[in-house]
Amino acid sequence: MATAFTPSRRPQARLTALRRVQRALAQTHDLGQLFRQLHAEIGCVMDTTSFLLGLFDETSEMVEVVGQIEAGLELPGGSFPLGHGFLSEAIRTRQPRLIRHWSVEGPRVQVQYATKTPGLPESTVTVPLAVAQRVIGVLSVQSYARDAYDEDDLFFLESVATQVAHAIDAWERAEASRAIGRASKLEAVLSCITDGLLVLDAAGRIVSLNPPARSIFGSIGAGIILGQPLDHEQWGQWPLGANVVGEALAPVIDGLQRGEAHRDVEVEVNASGRRVLSFTGTPIASAAGGPAGGVVVIRDVTNQRDIARLRDDLLSIASHDLRTPATVLRIQAQMLMRELGRVAPADVPAAERVQLMLDQTDRLTRMLNLLLDLTRVEAGRLDLHTEPTDLVALVQRVVRAVQALSIDHTIRLNGPRRLEGEWDAARLEQVVQNLLTNAIKYAPDGGNIDVTLCVEGDNVTVSVCDEGLGIAADELPNLFNRFYRVARTSGLEGSGIGLYVCQAIVTAHGGRIWATSDGPGRGSTFWLRLPLCVGPDQDGCA
Ligand code: ADP
Repeated sequence: MATAFTPSRRPQARLTALRRVQRALAQTHDLGQLFRQLHAEIGCVMDTTSFLLGLFDETSEMVEVVGQIEAGLELPGGSFPLGHGFLSEAIRTRQPRLIRHWSVEGPRVQVQYATKTPGLPESTVTVPLAVAQRVIGVLSVQSYARDAYDEDDLFFLESVATQVAHAIDAWERAEASRAIGRASKLEAVLSCITDGLLVLDAAGRIVSLNPPARSIFGSIGAGIILGQPLDHEQWGQWPLGANVVGEALAPVIDGLQRGEAHRDVEVEVNASGRRVLSFTGTPIASAAGGPAGGVVVIRDVTNQRDIARLRDDLLSIASHDLRTPATVLRIQAQMLMRELGRVAPADVPAAERVQLMLDQTDRLTRMLNLLLDLTRVEAGRLDLHTEPTDLVALVQRVVRAVQALSIDHTIRLNGPRRLEGEWDAARLEQVVQNLLTNAIKYAPDGGNIDVTLCVEGDNVTVSVCDEGLGIAADELPNLFNRFYRVARTSGLEGSGIGLYVCQAIVTAHGGRIWATSDGPGRGSTFWLRLPLCVGPDQDGCA
């Protein structure tokens, strides 16, 4: 529908409008605001019933509509791919277009954006926003009246478009240089970090990598191209060492693309010397919550691993070799005790001293055994020797031995008469003994200790429940960590190794161990669940 419009066609009015556009460009850097001001200023000299400003992105070939006004109503922006409509043609050909009588002159596709105005525009002036050879957008005015525009209008709109194009181009350049500034600050931060760091985008392309990351890839590092995915095409060509690093990184990078984190993935690289590298990938989420790339930290942990291996070897050798003199000492102390009983049965102080020697050598042997087990667990060498075992008889043996250690505690056993399974008897004895001696040690005021065996489906559950010091809820998950000790129990003798080894033994049997407690001062229960490997001859729970 044609709108009654009487713009001032005097040259003076156009000059004034141009000056005001210039001022607006100097005053605002906000595209939306600029769009509205352009509409107002151009509207003083031309019919702007329909008015559109769009920006063109060369890379994606998309036109982003900054704003569109239809009969005074501002319509929402949007974007469209470069096509063959009159807006796209102006961008594609870099030529302005003046149409005086659209229904006669065409082109056929008249409007890119749906509007509610009935009928179709009859006149338009559409000009590209060009900077040198580049088109960065398009400006279009349309009227529902025929012959609404002439050559002077075309010339005027081209002048406006030139100014607008240069201003927007300058803003974009300034924004780009700010981004480069930000990027170089990021580079500076990354280069201060001693660990290798890779920053990846959503497509797994390397956006940034710092000097330590480059050096981890060896001579190849300098050749890693930013903006390229670190995929097999790249590392497949590399020499062995760099190739192995690339391959180890692949699952971490794949994980990041799915938004998954990877922690401490270790790989041993054997090329011009042995190196152990540890990768940690942390995903970055986009504002919408989807994966948007991530950061990979690469750490050379060769020294730490070598030291750890040396420590384990030393511990293993020491604990193994020290057991022999400890055994010899115990045998000698036993013989001495026997000798004393024969030659001086009344010498109680001497007998007490020899007993002390016996107790201490036993303690030393226990500690050495624990240390040896610890090194075995750490090295993954905790081998099981399973055989048909009656778990009830095994637990009864341990209960008898541990009951002998305390007159303040009463150990009560509940369970079937027999319970056969395929287990490593010596190792399970060690677990039950650890749980029972703990139940005594951490119940210093004495009390009852209930040991219950119960078959549930294909599993047997053993629980050891004491009335002792109890454990706070937040400490329960840490109990089975190496060297972990509950703070309140630090006054009592202990090393924090026993439960760690117990867990390894139970896990090696395909079972599970855990603890529950109603809190400090309210006792604890340790639970052990083992699969019955051999059909049980059970009587059910007592
Ligand atoms: P240790 O007893 O030699 O310190 P463990 O690994 O057997 O080593 O136990 C680890 C820690 O768990 C103990 O130091 C203690 O703090 C806690 N703990 C174990 N058993 C009990 C229990 N029955 N009651 C309360 N705390 C316990």
